[in-house]
Amino acid sequence: MTLGLGFGGGRQHVSQSDPRQLIPRTDALLALPAFVDAATALGDAVVRAAIVTAQQQARDGQIAPEAVADAARAGLPTSSTSLEPVLNATGIVVHTNLGRAPLSAAAVAALARAAGYVDVEFDLDTGARARRGRETLAALLEQVPTAGDALVVNNGAAALVLATTALAAGREVVVSRGELVEIGDGFRLPDLIESTGARLREVGTTNRTHLADYAAAVGPDTGCILKVHPSNFRVAGFTSSVGLSDLSTLGVPVVMDIGSGLLTADPATPEEPDASTALAEGATIVTASGDKLLGGPQAGLVLGDQKVVELLRRHPLARALRVDKLTLAALEATLRGPVSPVRSYLHAEPAVVRTRTERLAAALGREVVDVVGAVGGGAAPGMPLPGCAVELPSGCAEALRRHRPAVVARVERGRCLVDLRCVPVGDDQVVQNAIRDVLDDLAGGG
Ligand SMILES: *Cc1c(COP(=O)(O)O)cnc(C)c1O
Repeated sequence: MTLGLGFGGGRQHVSQSDPRQLIPRTDALLALPAFVDAATALGDAVVRAAIVTAQQQARDGQIAPEAVADAARAGLPTSSTSLEPVLNATGIVVHTNLGRAPLSAAAVAALARAAGYVDVEFDLDTGARARRGRETLAALLEQVPTAGDALVVNNGAAALVLATTALAAGREVVVSRGELVEIGDGFRLPDLIESTGARLREVGTTNRTHLADYAAAVGPDTGCILKVHPSNFRVAGFTSSVGLSDLSTLGVPVVMDIGSGLLTADPATPEEPDASTALAEGATIVTASGDKLLGGPQAGLVLGDQKVVELLRRHPLARALRVDKLTLAALEATLRGPVSPVRSYLHAEPAVVRTRTERLAAALGREVVDVVGAVGGGAAPGMPLPGCAVELPSGCAEALRRHRPAVVARVERGRCLVDLRCVPVGDDQVVQNAIRDVLDDLAGGG
């Protein structure tokens, strides 16, 4: 369809020899209903930029002057965010590069509801100021009744920084050498902790640390003991570490960084520590991420002893790590709402995923192969997630990435593997259409 612009007369002199003079003017284009609507949705500047680009293409002779309106419209972005939604066909449930946890529909609706003015820090009954995010904190405490109080900050690293700053700035954090981990992208927990002004007091060895090692290090200068769950690697063989119940006898606060944000034990990830168990075993406070196994928005959770949580809440740094209303809304909806996508993908019934995969493979005339997925994103290292995938030629992976909607598959030993575990059930057909497009293109040499 063309937008049907009639340009005649006015001061525009139309020269037979120079079709560039037929290029429609910006003001005329901006007045067309399609561009008025687009300006409302995307902003004036974005629409102007698309128009200018199309006009330039006509000036350069790449398109005809009559095609400028359609080209400008085709050049409009589909959204005001450049973030591109992706179908995660990697089989990796919590994929850091793909934004970790996808939010539930309930959490998305909560985000939208919180987007305008809301009573995040205001009591509508009394008109007085109210505790920020009170219901989100209440929802956390409902799920971890052994915690005296809770606090939400920007991410897991922020929770850890706040805890070590409030408890140990200028003093020592006692930590096992087996737990000095790098959390990804070159960020190392020891550096993070030392950046707070606390001194690391390393005890034990990489593979073995004993209670006596901690006991010998703890003294008047100890701010806290820190225990970190090695969430992205596993030490196997001749190993030993000290449990929270033993550490809690040493008379100093014990901070447990559980990492992945399980609030209670989940049989699907038996080796992942959870907040309830860690507190019951003697941790003073636990810190965790909101967007790993909990399946919520990016957030850092602090749960545990009421006095210590209050100390953290009152610390000046807490203000710099404060979460916004959107995070509070999405987190509350994750805690109280329907099962999160992360949880449902982790608990996906193998037979159901296989049936979907076989249907996809049959429709495409391809093979189903057995694969081993992963939880990923700093959770359950080494825990295999047996599953299956549709096997495609390896060249498909790049084409699927470039396809819209984008499909990110896994490339393994020269094969492109499409794993439906983390694809919403309703999107199987979308994935199938994308693969068909890509296979057709490859067959056509396009
Ligand atoms: C992921 C992780 C962190 C960092 O949490 P973010 O939410 O990514 O800031 C810290 N400690 C452990 C053990 C982790 O697994």
